[in-house]
Amino acid sequence: MDVSLTKKPPQLSDDEMTLHLIASGLVRFVQDREDGALPGLPYPAMLHRGLNRLAATCLRRGVAPPVSIPDLFQWCHRPLLDWPIDLPPEAVKPNDTLQFDNLPTEICDEWAVEGSDVAAHINEQAFFSSFYTACRVENDAATYVAFRRLLIERPVLTAFELQKERLNLPLLSDQLTTAYQPAPAAHLVNGVYRCCAHCNGLLLQTVQGSLVCEHERCRRLLCCPEKEREMSPDEDIFWLKRELRRFISMPGLAELRLEQKLRQKDTS
Ligand SMILES: [Zn+2]
Repeated sequence: MDVSLTKKPPQLSDDEMTLHLIASGLVRFVQDREDGALPGLPYPAMLHRGLNRLAATCLRRGVAPPVSIPDLFQWCHRPLLDWPIDLPPEAVKPNDTLQFDNLPTEICDEWAVEGSDVAAHINEQAFFSSFYTACRVENDAATYVAFRRLLIERPVLTAFELQKERLNLPLLSDQLTTAYQPAPAAHLVNGVYRCCAHCNGLLLQTVQGSLVCEHERCRRLLCCPEKEREMSPDEDIFWLKRELRRFISMPGLAELRLEQKLRQKDTS
């Protein structure tokens, strides 16, 4: 996706801005939990602003509004097309919701970066630029490829593995330190971390007790508990930062699948 840091943000309608605020607030809320925010802290201001705007729109249009943030979270599991807001044609599909199993959906992520709040994107762009430049200055394409592949294929690492990768990729040792953060305790399941069999990211336990991946594609695939890696918190687990998972890992996984298909075609 081409995101220029100097590009003027697109102008949003009132309803689009409401959706952007709620989506950004949801993503912020999940990010805060991953960063170790304690339960009971105030909800992000963007969620409150989004709730107030949505409630006002509902009242204007004669619809019972959400009355609290938990109420808004329930709305976020309902199809956006059922909300009393006007969105551009084809902006959302019939079953699109902002949340699924209490996690932001891909459409939520997309709305979160619409408008003026592009902080996560700017972080990702600055990060990408730093490792791209380092490799270009050294004319080291192999390190660039290996580093990118690591971020895509191994979003979760033990402290030992992370240290090993720093030694393998000395040119990008600083970027590796920046890219990964300690895994959030909220993702512990019965005292251990479990990784998705499809993308290797951390799974989250829902209130109903099932394990879900943040990637919608993985949720549509069959569960393979026997292929889920189990990791003890005693090993100090690190997880790729959310913005890098969104903007590097997710598109990268699609590229790797394509590469795999092309290879299979070549050998058949
Ligand atoms: Zn997954």
